Amino acid sequence: MKNLLLGMSTAELKLLAKELGEKKFRGKQVSDWLYRQGCREISGMATLPVAFKAKLEEGYQIGRSLVKKISKSKDGTFKLLLQPAYGELVETVGMPYEGRFSCCVSTQVGCPIGCAFCATGTGGFKRNLSAGEIVDQVLTVGETAIKEKLLAADGRVSHVVFMGMGEPLLNYDAMLAAVHLINSELAIGMRNITVSTIGYVPGIYRLAGEDLQLTLAVSLHAADDALRRKLVPGMTRYTLQEITDACKHYFRETGRRVTFEYCLLKGVNDGQADAAKLAVLLQGLNCHVNLIPFNKVRGSGFYPPETFRVTNFRRVLEETGITVTQREQRGEGIEAACGQLRRQALTGQGDLRIK
Ligand code: SAH
Ligand code: SF4
Repeated sequence: MKNLLLGMSTAELKLLAKELGEKKFRGKQVSDWLYRQGCREISGMATLPVAFKAKLEEGYQIGRSLVKKISKSKDGTFKLLLQPAYGELVETVGMPYEGRFSCCVSTQVGCPIGCAFCATGTGGFKRNLSAGEIVDQVLTVGETAIKEKLLAADGRVSHVVFMGMGEPLLNYDAMLAAVHLINSELAIGMRNITVSTIGYVPGIYRLAGEDLQLTLAVSLHAADDALRRKLVPGMTRYTLQEITDACKHYFRETGRRVTFEYCLLKGVNDGQADAAKLAVLLQGLNCHVNLIPFNKVRGSGFYPPETFRVTNFRRVLEETGITVTQREQRGEGIEAACGQLRRQALTGQGDLRIK
């Protein structure tokens, strides 16, 4: 098993070049090939001296993944199943919007939290992804979008959301290294990066200390602890109060307004009384709420709410002055809720159409 170059920053690659007896600028050339040219083989790094390439090849490989499967939705959203250089399959999503292109990255294969309504959670935890494997998803989504003519030949991914498989704050170091690489190597602004967490309190405090301008999104899904314990069985150590306190701290430290995600499940957490409780919980917090109507997961026992229930829920929050957005339904027909594609590919269960 060789070391992987993908995942190393320009500074680290410069040090590596020096260690291998080269001038530092050779490291910058390597990072251009990796992150700007999308090079897949060391032998293809045309500007490097042959002897340096040979030395690199002795101990390193690039570490790009192969696309195993692509599922496309009519709205342009596509989901990729990737075979990394080593280890189990990873999934990632590309989403075209007016004037921007978003990539939704996974940080783990599977997830240890086991949320009751989430296809990833019900499948168990397999492993953490490395920073290189996370950055690879952004590169591969960009290349695929160009191939699929969803982006111009010189177009690129403009936004990255850490909302794929896994809990980013439980794979903190790789997540943070990936954020820095996405920002500095792929030139995606910090404000265009969103990290979503299920509410791992120590991780929120730690991230607040990094003082980054990224957006923190916190998945609540319930406004009382008993219901949250049922929906989010793997994160019962922290109460909703502790989570919102951590978010207040995050805002104080970074000046960045926190987004709260709330997945609406019919008859479970989508009543007006639930909305009223949520409004009380979030009182005084500089935040915004993103409502996510449940995306059907086969066999989960949960159902999406009717539109009028979503509207009523939203109105209760808005009446108390909370800013609310509603997540656009994307990726219809490609099992776009997290974890679904991988599960389908592994078990052969279910057709791709769930609506
Ligand atoms: N583990 C992190 C990030 C990945 S999940 C977290 O939970 O925040 C990203 C978002 O997708 C979360 O808000 C999660 O609640 C939501 N999600 C998961 N399964 C879903 C489903 N079936 N329908 C709608 N949203 C879902
Ligand atoms: Fe994990 Fe997030 Fe899915 Fe919960 S919703 S199981 S935390 S990926």
